[in-house]
Amino acid sequence: HAKQSGRNRYVLYDPFIHREEQERFRMDGWIRKGLKQGEFALHYQPQVDMESGRVTGAEALIRWHHPEEGLIPPNEFIPLAEESGTIVDIGYWVLDTACEQLRKWMEAGYAPLCISINLSAKQFLDPKFPDVLADTLNRTGIEPSLLCLEITERTAMLDKGGCADICREIMSFGVKLSIDDFGTGYSSLVLLKQLPVHSIKIDRSFVIELETNDSDRAIIIAMIAMSHNLGKKVVAEGVEELGQWNMLARLGCDEVQGYFVSRPLPADEFVRFLARERQQGISVMSPAYHMH
Ligand code: C2E
Ligand code: MG
Ligand code: MG
Ligand code: MG
Repeated sequence: HAKQSGRNRYVLYDPFIHREEQERFRMDGWIRKGLKQGEFALHYQPQVDMESGRVTGAEALIRWHHPEEGLIPPNEFIPLAEESGTIVDIGYWVLDTACEQLRKWMEAGYAPLCISINLSAKQFLDPKFPDVLADTLNRTGIEPSLLCLEITERTAMLDKGGCADICREIMSFGVKLSIDDFGTGYSSLVLLKQLPVHSIKIDRSFVIELETNDSDRAIIIAMIAMSHNLGKKVVAEGVEELGQWNMLARLGCDEVQGYFVSRPLPADEFVRFLARERQQGISVMSPAYHMH
């Protein structure tokens, strides 16, 4: 249909390189314009503590509601924005929006929640980043330990010594750090030893076949043991089923995020989810929780 064909104009396997360049350039303009015109929103996906079954926080995930193209998922524009550098503008909008949202929730009297945001490599390595972060924390007045910054394993590998310094500076503000998509970058051991981070997020690719694939399970067991021995918390991503939840609980994983608990939700729906959870616990989780 029309929407589909519209979207297809932006696929990156266009055989005509120069056209591809033009399309990227145009897409980039759209992003900048979209930021000004309020086309972006953050959705919040709950993170649950496995032992208590309670929501401890949420990951903020960007959504782009384009007036003509409809909803454009992050995988379709983040990589492009990363190449062009527009990701830095997006990143500051995300940081600001997430902190403002957290401030509003705190003011409305919700129990403290930890909000995680995804940092792109360019933003993390931007020399101005620590100052902007400090400024955002001051301006919004949020408790720094309620903010968690996720960097991917790939970002952390770019400049190992430099990254450790940036991490230490960020942590001196009291902000938390996490390594996202852990296990996908082939340097996990060294990274964990060198980087002062609070937690790791096991990539969804290891979770999918956790119950049937012995290698995936062995890797998860090793990642959990290693992280715990180094004093870091383990969050599993992409948990969709009760069986995965149960297995992860048995293996000692600390927190879980995934469709099994909830999809990422717009802020107002997230708050309704929280209210329900605070009142009655997460009912879908109760069976799992009573099994061991
Ligand atoms: P990520 O940070 O690893 O985020 C997790 C992704 O997995 C999200 O996709 C989330 O919706 C999805 N997910 C969560 N639970 C499940 C599940 O149970 N099953 C499945 N199949 N998927 C699940 P999303 O929102 O499409 O984001 C994709 C990626 O885009 C993110 O991966 C992150 O790398 C990037 N991204 C999203 N928002 C931002 C942002 O604000 N800034 C930056 N720099 N990158 C972002
Ligand atoms: Mg993430
Ligand atoms: Mg991830
Ligand atoms: Mg990912």
